[in-house]
Order: sequence, then C-alpha cells, then structure tokens
Amino acid sequence: MDCVLCKIARGDIPSWKIYEDDYCIGVLDVSPCAPGHCLVIPKHHVEKFYDLPDDELAKLFVAAKTVARKIRTAYSPDHVCMFIRGGRLPHLHVALFPSTEGDGVSGFPQSNYPEQSVDLDASAELLRSA
Ligand SMILES: [Zn+2]
Repeated sequence: MDCVLCKIARGDIPSWKIYEDDYCIGVLDVSPCAPGHCLVIPKHHVEKFYDLPDDELAKLFVAAKTVARKIRTAYSPDHVCMFIRGGRLPHLHVALFPSTEGDGVSGFPQSNYPEQSVDLDASAELLRSA
C-alpha cells in the first residue's frame, strides 16, 4: 500500500518525531496551521477512529493527551485543538494544534457553515435508532 503515513510510521520517510510509543507516533505536520501543529498516527494502517477496537482507541487518545500537553507546555496557547476527519489522508491521524481565542477555529464548526435549520427532534430520533 502506498500510504504516506504508513511510510512515516515505518521511518521510510523522515519526519520531525516528537513522541513515540508501542502503538503510535507523534510528528510535526509538514504543512502546519500554527507552530506546534502535530499529528498522532497509529503505526498500523487504519482509516477511521471509530473502526478501532476500544483498547487501541484508548492508546491513541492517551498518546494524543501526552502530545497535547507538550503543545500546551511549549506554546502556552489558550487551547489545544483536536481534529480528526480523515479526508486529507486515508490513514487515521489526530491533528493537535495550539489555538488562541479569535483564531481560525474560534466558533468552529458552526463558523464554517451557513446557518442551518435542523429538526432536532427528527435528528435525535434518527440517531437513537441508528
Ligand atoms: Zn497507512
């Protein structure tokens, strides 16, 4: 499989590694939205966090917490933001970056979408029955 994050996790592609344990690595994003923007990446290929077994998910989030605390200590931001979407690369990665009040993620996600008119009763029923 020609997956860039698998190659980074194996060390086939150099990275700015700032964390590693038996399950995952933490590296600097090479296209950061802010100084200290990191990615926490499982060493094996998986696409979506909700497809992970619970024990692996726990390992991933404990590592994300460790990396988030490193960002907090190093940059003293108002917040450390966590973002997982999986659209840019097909290998699960937790994006963590320092965030300051008033920056591009303030008010996110609502700030990035036109105002919605949602039937909350219908949405709740749809989700409860899913
Ligand atoms: Zn991969």
